[in-house]
Amino acid sequence: MKDLKKQFRGSLLLSAAGDALGYAVEFDRLREIQRMYGPEGIQSYDLSAADHTAVFSDDTQMTLFTAEGLLFAAGRGDRPEKEYVWLAYMDWLTTQFEDAPEPFGQCRLLEERRMRHRRAPGNTCLGALRQGIMGTMEEPINHSKGCGGIMRISPCAMIHSDRTAAAVSAAEASALTHTHPLGYIPSATMAFILNSIFWRDETDMVKIVQDAVSDTEEMFQGEADLPGYIELMKKALRLAENDRPDTENIRILGEGWIADEAMAIAAYCALRHPQDPSGVLRAAVNHDGDSDSTGAIAGAIVGALIGEDAVGNEWKEHLELTDLIGSIADDLYTAVADPERLPAMYRKETAE
Ligand SMILES: [Mg+2]
Repeated sequence: MKDLKKQFRGSLLLSAAGDALGYAVEFDRLREIQRMYGPEGIQSYDLSAADHTAVFSDDTQMTLFTAEGLLFAAGRGDRPEKEYVWLAYMDWLTTQFEDAPEPFGQCRLLEERRMRHRRAPGNTCLGALRQGIMGTMEEPINHSKGCGGIMRISPCAMIHSDRTAAAVSAAEASALTHTHPLGYIPSATMAFILNSIFWRDETDMVKIVQDAVSDTEEMFQGEADLPGYIELMKKALRLAENDRPDTENIRILGEGWIADEAMAIAAYCALRHPQDPSGVLRAAVNHDGDSDSTGAIAGAIVGALIGEDAVGNEWKEHLELTDLIGSIADDLYTAVADPERLPAMYRKETAE
């Protein structure tokens, strides 16, 4: 039976798992990964020597801060949503620098010491936030199409059941720091994919991705960079049908450092392994490029589809902060199911 709460938890957990699996090899070419972990590449967490945990990176950190920004917006409703998301990112920034400017200071993630690690944060995110100016689709602050926007926006598709609202929310949250059109358009595709899974009960991954691609095409019609991106997504759909190894197919799609390639690689992996949490994560991180981000994005998709119970123990055990991830997922669920019961800190009347 469908259980949306478990789907939210599954999505955030498998995303963090993909991030943690990939973080160990983020900057390694496939050949180096194979040299270190064997011909199949990295298959399970490379646990930290210090405390035997699988640590996640900035991708999951920022995803959780996105969630908190959305929760403040849902609970208080006194500012545009993207402002709260930006304020939450400013809180994330304080976890990365002692001297970060103007923190919001209200995110509960700040209370968790283990959220204060620097795990290869993206320069575009750091630079954009340090400027202290919100990027928007209308008023660009840079020309970045890095994957630092798309890697963090899955909560937008949880808190918004409306398909268009989810896509706009995801694109706006990405454009806060990445204002090249290809820095935020793929985020809309990701939101459409998750919307089909969460809110349309769609389970056929081919249809899910096809619908997301055509809705993206419609939403951003006339955008100069759109046709090339749409073609890349269609290539991902085609490659998923052949019987060649994932590593060969992914190489054709790119390396995932930029958002359009990250979306295409993650969609490809989800198409190939829609019901297999281990298969999708292993495919998504064993390549030449940005392994933790493609792992996080692909994990968010398949985790949403299979739900928390089907995310094997193999991926839950040793993963750091699973309780915190689960409780953020539950708050997102509360925000849509019963907003009156959101924790008091997110609601306006107790903000003082
Ligand atoms: Mg990362």
